[in-house]
Amino acid sequence: MIEIEKVHKSFGQLKVLKGIDLRVAKGEVLSVIGGSGSGKSTLLTCINGLEPIDSGRILVDGTEVHAKSTDLNKLRRKIGIVFQQWNAFPHLTVVENVMLAQRKVLGRSKPEAEAEAVRQLSHVGLGDKLKVYPSRLSGGQQQRMAIARALAMSPHYMLFDEVTSALDPQLVGEVLDTLRMLAAEGMTMICVTHEMKFAREVSDRVAFFHKGVMAEIAAPAELFGAPKSEELRAFLSATH
Ligand code: ATP
Ligand code: MG
Repeated sequence: MIEIEKVHKSFGQLKVLKGIDLRVAKGEVLSVIGGSGSGKSTLLTCINGLEPIDSGRILVDGTEVHAKSTDLNKLRRKIGIVFQQWNAFPHLTVVENVMLAQRKVLGRSKPEAEAEAVRQLSHVGLGDKLKVYPSRLSGGQQQRMAIARALAMSPHYMLFDEVTSALDPQLVGEVLDTLRMLAAEGMTMICVTHEMKFAREVSDRVAFFHKGVMAEIAAPAELFGAPKSEELRAFLSATH
């Protein structure tokens, strides 16, 4: 479980998260929507300890992320994170790219890492691209490689930050299908997304962020069907 309690976070004078309270249960799929600058990406980077917080606390399976005693490297192994773009190593093949962190971070043997890379790449539909170089992949295939790389680390949680935003429209579907598959398999996921259809269809709950506040959180039918705040109504009418 991920527990976020009264989290405040600033960059200098700018208050970016203003008292976020949120729990994500095992197996839950949470989508996070909201305008640019509302704090969505910052929330994800705080969850895996890439960014410090000013106050409050974040617990992952009971371990406090920002406690001094916490081994962040160990904690981060539990949390896969995929961004808009991931710069793969251009001189390594797809399968080698997916093996690298398994070897370096988890200390897996070469055959072990390779078997897992092949398994995860096949799982995301890239079983026929193992030996090619990343520059030969389409944008959607590159994103699926990034997802396979994160999955190969055997994470308990996956955080996705607008993984389809940099893609041509015709490539968005294949990446969303991969996320759908993971959700159906029971992966615990937080997906920051601009894809309202995806948020509506795949999430257990959707959170709406507005200016650093989690203004609404509800099941998708409720959040999209009966938005409570003027801000969410305005956001939804602007994104349609
Ligand atoms: P978008 O939809 O555009 O990705 P977001 O909701 O993900 O927006 P954040 O990236 O979390 O927004 O940024 C929230 C605010 O914090 C923005 O005003 C941003 O400029 C600022 N910010 C983010 N990261 C930093 C940083 N490392 N240093 C200073 N300010 C930052
Ligand atoms: Mg962002």
